Amino acid sequence: MLDAIKARKVYAKWAQQRPAKADYNMVVIGAGSAGLVSAPTSPPPPRRKWRLIEKHRMGGDCLNTGCVPSKALIRSAKLLSHVARSKEFGIDRASASFDFAEVMQRVQRVITAIEPHDSVERYTGLGVECVTGRRRSPRRGRSRWPPTAAAGR
Ligand SMILES: Cc1cc2nc3c(=O)[nH]c(=O)nc-3n(C[C@H](O)[C@H](O)[C@H](O)COP(=O)(O)OP(=O)(O)OC[C@H]3O[C@@H](n4cnc5c(N)ncnc54)[C@H](O)[C@@H]3O)c2cc1C
Repeated sequence: MLDAIKARKVYAKWAQQRPAKADYNMVVIGAGSAGLVSAPTSPPPPRRKWRLIEKHRMGGDCLNTGCVPSKALIRSAKLLSHVARSKEFGIDRASASFDFAEVMQRVQRVITAIEPHDSVERYTGLGVECVTGRRRSPRRGRSRWPPTAAAGR
């Protein structure tokens, strides 16, 4: 109850800006880590509409260029490092050679294995309308509602 009163106070200053009618209950711009955790991960209640707009690749930096590929690459590097330091671990002789292209193929396989969790198919199945396109920023002082997506730049 106290939380509801507090929330009403916080949102009061936006009350005047609230649109009379909106096409969506929630629009998330960007399907990176932040967008994907903000987008619902359970089917919406009746008459609720959610939209997710992504201009490039679902999963954003984390899946495609950041966390996931870096950890996969680090794992291969760690394995090589352990082999090079095998004596420290009480192993007399160990050797390894590597092909960087194969290491990178594994990195890609790891991304591919995780991709379905961040996919349009998964979020569509959860009742989120997924749109590929760039959400244009409204011109200063001219906020547009509802937000629209435009394909490409
Ligand atoms: C090498 C590396 C390793 C990392 N390792 C870790 C780790 O181990 N653990 C960890 O917690 N973090 C890690 N991070 C950080 C992590 O990747 C970021 O914190 C995370 O990706 C941020 O997510 P985000 O959703 O804020 O942004 P992003 O991942 O950048 O996603 C934003 C998305 O919004 C889309 N977008 C932007 N503007 C628009 C628009 N106008 N319209 C439509 N779509 C738009 C973009 O295409 C993008 O997909 C790492 C980062 C790097 C570079």
